[in-house]
Amino acid sequence: MKFLFRSLLILLSIIPLILAAQDYYKILGLDKSASPKDIKRAYRTLSKKWHPDKNPDNPAASDKFREVAEAYETLSDDEQRKIYDRYGAEGLKKHQQGGQGGGHHDPFDLFSRFFGGGGHFHGGQRRGPNMELNMPISLHDFYTGGQREFQIEKQQICEHCEGSGSADGHTETCAECSGRGVKLVKHMLAPGIFQQMQTICNKCNGQGHVISKPCKICGGAKVKKDTVTLKLDLEKGTPNHAQMVFENEGDESPDWVAGDVLINVIQMEATGEVDPTNDEEVKHGKTDGMFFRRKGNDLYWKEVLGLREALLGDWTRNLTHLDGHVVKLGKKKGITVQPNFVERIKGEGMPIYQKDGEFGDLVVEYEVILPDLMDSGMRKDLQEVFDKWHKKKGEKLVKDEL
Ligand SMILES: [Zn+2]
Ligand SMILES: [Zn+2]
Repeated sequence: MKFLFRSLLILLSIIPLILAAQDYYKILGLDKSASPKDIKRAYRTLSKKWHPDKNPDNPAASDKFREVAEAYETLSDDEQRKIYDRYGAEGLKKHQQGGQGGGHHDPFDLFSRFFGGGGHFHGGQRRGPNMELNMPISLHDFYTGGQREFQIEKQQICEHCEGSGSADGHTETCAECSGRGVKLVKHMLAPGIFQQMQTICNKCNGQGHVISKPCKICGGAKVKKDTVTLKLDLEKGTPNHAQMVFENEGDESPDWVAGDVLINVIQMEATGEVDPTNDEEVKHGKTDGMFFRRKGNDLYWKEVLGLREALLGDWTRNLTHLDGHVVKLGKKKGITVQPNFVERIKGEGMPIYQKDGEFGDLVVEYEVILPDLMDSGMRKDLQEVFDKWHKKKGEKLVKDEL
């Protein structure tokens, strides 16, 4: 009992230690070699994941949200990161207490710098427009899955002025409308009869404040166009025309919560790698040739056999699959393949989306090509073979069977 009590005490005294020694890199899922870009990307992903608005039933989420903000603030600042790398979180705290300001900002403020809209998803926030893009993907990539980075140009909140539009962070109340954003204008309808109308203040565009020293980077616009890199996780067997959603990665503005980026993955119209469900392409014969074609979870393949192979069997083919593995096709001696014969090979089709280890079928369609050039000797030999065969069967000989 005494032992148990003591170990409990030790355990209790360890917990606060663990909490104090925060590993900012670990919180962001990174290691010490992380680039500023990695840090930013990790923040974007994790702050959305743990935002209290998105986790109303998980009280631990707001702690996580705060931690992620703290980790980002520290590691995104060169100076602070250096101190943290050398002396750890405690060392950094001491340094901040001893010197210039420091401490951490409101995590919702930081969030709004990335996604706009006052740092919240709900509560009557206006939402920015969604951005929709088509991304061509090869059948090979649909088969193997994988990650792909791509870039979009979008409106981002100016980092320099943190979306204030002001060079010094100050905004002044608009003198024209006294900060109301609207003005009352008198119109004379007839002599002595006035109508009073409310209009949006043209000096501040209804904002109620003006910036006397605009930010040098965005010129007071609060936002600027920028190229950002996003990472698409394409799962094996993703359906053609599937839509991937990148939450809140659309145009940013201090006036709204950023909308989503919607990516439609579309099978590439490269040679052979065409969509067999697209009637136009089938009509134009684009699917002819030696290529895999996809229909849902199944793959289609056309294999060409010569007359001898189709008739007598005893042939093999090594079919190289989309990921490079080999599927063996073939028939034993004496097995005939009819023209347009269809063979279904279980488990060699597309990986089934979100069903690990399950695959559709590979449908092999056989085409038999008859020789169109034969020398007279060969023609004679064949004629004899057929004559003999017909006589044996007691059937009437048709003269030009060949
Ligand atoms: Zn700016
Ligand atoms: Zn005004």
